[in-house]
Parts: sequence; structure tokens; C-alpha cells
Amino acid sequence: MLKITFLGTGTSQGIPVIGSKHPVCLSSNPKDKRLRVSVLLSWQDYNFVIDCGPDFRQQMLRHKVDKLDGILFTHEHSDHTAGIDDIRPFFFRQGDIPVFADEVVINSLKRRFDYIFADDNRYPGAPAVKVNFIENNKPFKIGNKTAIPIEAYHNRLKVFGFRVDDFAYLTDIKTISSKEIDKIRGVKVLSVNALRIEPHHSHFNLEEALAFVEEVNPEKTYFSHISHYLGFHEEVQKKLPKNVYLAYDNLTLNV
Ligand SMILES: [Zn+2]
Ligand SMILES: [Zn+2]
Repeated sequence: MLKITFLGTGTSQGIPVIGSKHPVCLSSNPKDKRLRVSVLLSWQDYNFVIDCGPDFRQQMLRHKVDKLDGILFTHEHSDHTAGIDDIRPFFFRQGDIPVFADEVVINSLKRRFDYIFADDNRYPGAPAVKVNFIENNKPFKIGNKTAIPIEAYHNRLKVFGFRVDDFAYLTDIKTISSKEIDKIRGVKVLSVNALRIEPHHSHFNLEEALAFVEEVNPEKTYFSHISHYLGFHEEVQKKLPKNVYLAYDNLTLNV
């Protein structure tokens, strides 16, 4: 059994957007409030997160996560990585925190968070990570399970989704080959990005996300990485086909 917790389901600025008077940003429905995307995968004694964006600290506190076994990164954009400094409490208790990412992502993190990756003259109190490269799109071990990387594209930027058991998580994708789709066809639960109604150069809009669901044919799908431009949670949900749902922050599933 794998427990999935949606820690955040919003696009890069989150919802509400700072200073926005858009009706969705002003909504009082908790399901219209979305932190930056991340999911927590828990089983037995293990906790892994996919991405750690700027809301990571708040997400860890909200869900009382007291041990973190690793972070899988989809890509280097700040809304997926900017919270990495807040691994410090985990680092102090556990030592170097394992991260799993493509070399391009690690190089970006090294530039932006050089003190985390410093070999010598480390600043006292700086956290450290144990780097695990995702090589040649090959499966890798997380705890006693296997994570299967799913390669996709975010405009021209390579991004990785991950399949663990019968759960597949993809975010920030715009195109994906049928060979990669084969790795997740018929999965029990799929989570994929559905940004808004209008097309976007680097994200699936709702129509593209629905077409992708038809192709993958999962038992259930949860859309995430949602912009306020998609509309009110309750109204959008009513228009979705059977077994397709909008994810919302703090939603948990057992797969
Ligand atoms: Zn993003
Ligand atoms: Zn992105």
C-alpha cells in the first residue's frame, strides 16, 4: 500500500496569487487555495517527496512529516525546487538527504544553492544532500520500492515524471512519446498537470490533459499544477468525465 498526499496542487505562483482580485483567488473554498505542487509518498516507515518548492516547509509542518527519506525532482524550475534549504531540520536529525534527479537539475541546484553542495569550507548549519543521478531514464530504488522515470517535455525542457507501484505522477508536461506512455498505460492512479482552459506553450491545458487521460486509460486521474484561470474547483469538477478529478491540497489516496 502506497499513501499519496497532495501537498500542493497550484501552478508556479500558487492560488491565491499575491495581490490578485481574480474571483478564484478571492474564493473562500479551501479547495481553491493551492500551494506549489508536491506529493508525499508514504509506506511502512518511508516518506519520499516529489519536488520541494517554496511551500515545502509549510507542507512538512502541515502534515507532521518528521522523517524524510529522499526527494525526487521532476525538473529545476523554482516552483519545484526553491524549498530545498528547508531540508535542514531533516538533515540535522538524519544526515545527508538523498536526492534523485537528472544531471541538468543537479547542475542548476549547484549553481543556485552552492553552499548545499560545497565539499569543503562548509558553512556550519548548511544542509547537505546525497546526490543520486537519474541515468539513462533507468528505474532506481527508493527505500524498498522502485521508481520508474517517465521522460516528457515541458516545451523544450526535459522533465521526469515517476511511476511507483500503480501510481504515476507527471507534472509540467506538454509533450510525451508513446514509448514513455507505455510505461504508465492502465495504471490505477495517474496525476498529471492541467493548467487552464487556454493553451500554454509548456503545459497541458485542460483539453490536452483530458486527451492524455484517454490515451493512458488509468482507473482514476487527478489533475494538478492548476492555475486560477482554470476556474473554481467545484465548477470545473462538475464538468469532468467519470473518474477524472481535480486534485486539491491535503487530498490523500491509498493506492
Ligand atoms: Zn511548475
Ligand atoms: Zn516548470
